[in-house]
Amino acid sequence: MATAMPWKARVLTLYPAMFPGPLGQSLAGRALSEGRWSLAVVDIRDFARDKHRTVDDTPCGGGPGMVMRPDVLAAAIDETVAAAQAEDPAVAQQPLIYFSPRGRRLDQALVHEVKAAGGATLLCGRFEGVDERLLDARPIVEVSLGDFVLSGGEIAAYALIDAVVRLLPGVMGAEESGTEESFADGLLEYPQYTRPQVWEDRAVPEVLLSGHHEKIAAWRRDQAEKITAARRPDLWESYRRRKPAGKN
Ligand code: SAH
Repeated sequence: MATAMPWKARVLTLYPAMFPGPLGQSLAGRALSEGRWSLAVVDIRDFARDKHRTVDDTPCGGGPGMVMRPDVLAAAIDETVAAAQAEDPAVAQQPLIYFSPRGRRLDQALVHEVKAAGGATLLCGRFEGVDERLLDARPIVEVSLGDFVLSGGEIAAYALIDAVVRLLPGVMGAEESGTEESFADGLLEYPQYTRPQVWEDRAVPEVLLSGHHEKIAAWRRDQAEKITAARRPDLWESYRRRKPAGKN
């Protein structure tokens, strides 16, 4: 019987030394060395066609900065995906993501989709970004980390990979920490407390020390709803639409 391959990220970057970087530490780092996920890092510059290993050129029409060439990027993508697919046919179904401020905003739903796909190919831009024709010519999904501009896609790749890896089987200590946390049910997380029981005259809420599991669960649900309503009206609205009042 064929065993499923561990979740795999293929990262295309001009800065391969940035990987695994932070993903080599803590939870993700331990999981990487345990083989619960794997990482292939591809140096885009290896696919340049001239002796200067050029990957970018000036923008047509003028303007500041440089633009990444479509021919070099397409060669890097095509060879990477073809090689991966030869090892694992499932790669054909896995997303090809270009990190870009114009993309779909990364959220927990997208993290679950990328996890379920079994892996992803991640293109990290630099300079002013990539030639638009590349985005039209390949089945690329653009993903944004948020409404701000990074100097490169690598930090967005860290974020996506980290968010996926912590959900993989055996990576987090307690399985529940994945199901109870923020966004799991459309709400932000309830407040957490630990020892000391009183700190700077502030006591841990009594109910949490009661040992009464139902009351604790009800209190946490109530807090999660209050915090979500106050801080994220957008999440609160869709939560309420899915879950009519009074039906808990
Ligand atoms: N000129 C572009 C920004 C380029 S920033 C623009 O105005 O949209 C250089 C690279 O950083 C991009 O190609 C992209 O890969 C990455 N990047 C920048 N901001 C990002 C964000 N918010 N989310 C994901 N990737 C981002």
